[in-house]
Amino acid sequence: MPAEAIDSHAHLYFDRFNDDRDEVIQRAKDAGFVSIINIAVDEATSRQVIELAVENPGFCHAVVGVHPTHSGMPPTDLQDALRSIEDLCDQHPQQVVGIGEIGIDYYWKEVSPEDQERAFIAQLKIARRRNLPVVIHCREAWPETLAVIEKHGTGVTGVFHCFGGTVLEAQRALDLGWYVSFAGNVTYPKAQKLRDAAAIVPLDRLLLETDSPFLAPQPKRGKRNEPVHSLHTADELARVHGTHRRSVLEATTANSRKLFRLSS
Ligand SMILES: [Zn+2]
Ligand SMILES: [Zn+2]
Repeated sequence: MPAEAIDSHAHLYFDRFNDDRDEVIQRAKDAGFVSIINIAVDEATSRQVIELAVENPGFCHAVVGVHPTHSGMPPTDLQDALRSIEDLCDQHPQQVVGIGEIGIDYYWKEVSPEDQERAFIAQLKIARRRNLPVVIHCREAWPETLAVIEKHGTGVTGVFHCFGGTVLEAQRALDLGWYVSFAGNVTYPKAQKLRDAAAIVPLDRLLLETDSPFLAPQPKRGKRNEPVHSLHTADELARVHGTHRRSVLEATTANSRKLFRLSS
């Protein structure tokens, strides 16, 4: 029997899965996966992740929200989008397990810091109101992201997805009491800095993710990523922690269940 696994961050609603989405999900099930959490990037995809969760009850779960790189809009449009997203939380309490992905991204320069912060803060408020965890996307904006969470995230918990920071930054995430998730890039030969950060995250604070279709781990690098490939990431995390794949999967599965309050 393969150990139970959870991919805590996928985008299976992307067009790149249109031809074989069901097979991708079946491959994950065959490999021991008990859940895939799909993360939205805007209002339209928030509906799509819910649809996937309705079609795959108890297996696919939905995280709804507006991604920082999709947050460039006038404040009234943002309000409307977030109101619709909050309505979705009401209408689909069985499917929606979190708010995300939200945060700050200074790598892509299309959206102003003001727009990004406005969306981020408003969604931290939704998470608190709804008592839902958040999925944080942070790229080249670590101090800014942390400052917003410290100021506006009281009472909210969550995960730093696709962690890309330093040992020190990982420590600050842990100090918040939050989870840290590593994607396939932790397996890349040049990613020693990332492995150093992964080494200080205790197993009981670690999540596993693909960020499918992006960031396929080293053996699949350059190809479309899918949930089952995160087993390579689990192997790398096991090496970093001097343990076995099974221990990493047991821990990350338990952590995902706890954070997103999954019943299956
Ligand atoms: Zn992201
Ligand atoms: Zn993502």
